[in-house]
Amino acid sequence: MKNYDVVVIGSGPAGYVSAIRAAQLGLKTLCIEKWVNEDGKHVNGGTCLNVGCIPSKALLDSSHKYWETTNDLKIHGISIKDVDINVPKMHERKNKVVSQLTSGVAGLFKTNGVETAFGHGKLHSGKKVSITDENGETSEVTADNVILASGSKPIEIPVAKVDNELILDSTGALNIASVPGRLGIIGAGVIGLELGSVWSRLGSQVVLLEALDDFLAIMDKQIAKESKKIFVKQGLDIRLGARVIGTEVADDQVVVTYRNGEDIQKETFDKLIVCVGRRPHTENLLAPESGVEVDERGSVFVNEYCATNVPGVYAVGDLVRGPMLAHKGSEEGVMVAERIAGHKAQLNYDIVPNVIYTHPEVASVGKTEEQVKASGDPYNVGTFPFLASGRALAANDSDGLVKIIAHAETDRILGCHIVGPSAADLTQQVAIAMEFGSSAEDLGMTVFGHPTLSEAVHEAALSVNGAAIHMPNRKKQK
Ligand code: FAD
Ligand code: NAD
Repeated sequence: MKNYDVVVIGSGPAGYVSAIRAAQLGLKTLCIEKWVNEDGKHVNGGTCLNVGCIPSKALLDSSHKYWETTNDLKIHGISIKDVDINVPKMHERKNKVVSQLTSGVAGLFKTNGVETAFGHGKLHSGKKVSITDENGETSEVTADNVILASGSKPIEIPVAKVDNELILDSTGALNIASVPGRLGIIGAGVIGLELGSVWSRLGSQVVLLEALDDFLAIMDKQIAKESKKIFVKQGLDIRLGARVIGTEVADDQVVVTYRNGEDIQKETFDKLIVCVGRRPHTENLLAPESGVEVDERGSVFVNEYCATNVPGVYAVGDLVRGPMLAHKGSEEGVMVAERIAGHKAQLNYDIVPNVIYTHPEVASVGKTEEQVKASGDPYNVGTFPFLASGRALAANDSDGLVKIIAHAETDRILGCHIVGPSAADLTQQVAIAMEFGSSAEDLGMTVFGHPTLSEAVHEAALSVNGAAIHMPNRKKQK
């Protein structure tokens, strides 16, 4: 039986990155993947490249261009006649981007010397891994180290059974063939807002039914409130406290019944997307004798270094605790590969950026104001609205604000939350500063180019200590 230094199960962003890093470090590495795409091809890249981050961003970019052309150009003095959207062409471009990136992973495996096997991987005792191909043929390998990276799946709810015709999961929602007149979405979370924005920009009436009373409950409250205001202004109909209790398919439409407090309401949609979260994907991954523990949420139980309870077996990405984000999984993959190779790698889980790629984007890193308040630490807050940014006004893109939270005694930055243009990239600047232990004053003393959107970050950092220049300071400078 062939033995490897490292066998990785799953080639999503957590798995393929860990496999490449392990091979770079001289470890004999095999990556097992079972994904077969719509064309019947074996592909790497997992959810992220095939049906997640990348195709959704391709649709967000296409639909944003359409929205700008139809809504934003006039103010710049540009008029265009006969604008239309060719949805099949939009999907064709998206599919091309996806296949470029998935074959890119295959290329990276080749150049780095990662071996691949297509089929279903399963861990047995003694770090033995079986691989079952699509014909049901099973082979076995052993490994000194196994990295489990089998990712996650959409959560299903019995009241809205996905048929991917009228009731869609996130994968079906990436392939809607024409713009629906009325689109219902269960769950006003990340996927609901991103994919809701795509179809709303193209002309759908979008209704989001969210069970919780709070919008974006885990985000900083001020930023969530501001974001909701912006999304509602854009035309998204966001209904909070809306608990779906039934769906009925009739005449090519879906009738959704939901409870809002004491009221029972009905809505009819041409399509319905169900996006109420994701769950770890552990089906047939672990033979009982493998001994790997799974926690009460179905995640593979790991320590801070992603080691499971079985020596030499690790788990990374959506399969384990923490936010289900591609970059979090990739960094875990790198950490594990480096630790297997004997390095002292670790991951700073306190500084993992989180972005919703609407327009404007909503992005955050570090603690929210509510979390800082709950910790009891004294803190200062600095904010700066994009309405006061020259660059944002010049671009006619001035919704939102930057918010920076710093410790009141040490001035160390504890969190940054932005809703606004390029929020993802601006938040990343603060993430880098936080990684280097920056204070708000350090960021305030940094020279920022003019006119840039980044200046809003500079001003928010200055405003933490009452020293903002381009708006009145709430706090007096010491
Ligand atoms: P996955 O990407 O799910 O990969 C797991 C792989 O393992 C799959 O290829 C699967 O086929 C394979 N596998 C599973 N079981 C086995 C087995 N037994 N044998 C062999 N192979 C197996 N995150 C972001 O950070 N930014 C975004 O913009 C973003 N957008 C998203 C948009 C959508 C619509 C969705 C659904 C998700 C999005 N995410 C985003 C989340 C992101 O896709 C996931 O966090 C990420 O893909 C998780 O990576 P992973 O490697 O852990 O798992
Ligand atoms: P989510 O957790 O972001 O949002 C799900 C929403 O559905 C929540 O607000 C929840 O309260 C609500 N909900 C749950 N059950 C409900 C019910 N029965 N009725 C009505 N509402 C209900 O999950 P998601 O949008 O499905 O996305 C899944 C995961 O994928 C995310 O958590 C994220 O980790 C990842 N993702 C990330 C990005 C990104 O980074 N830009 C994009 C898409 C997905």
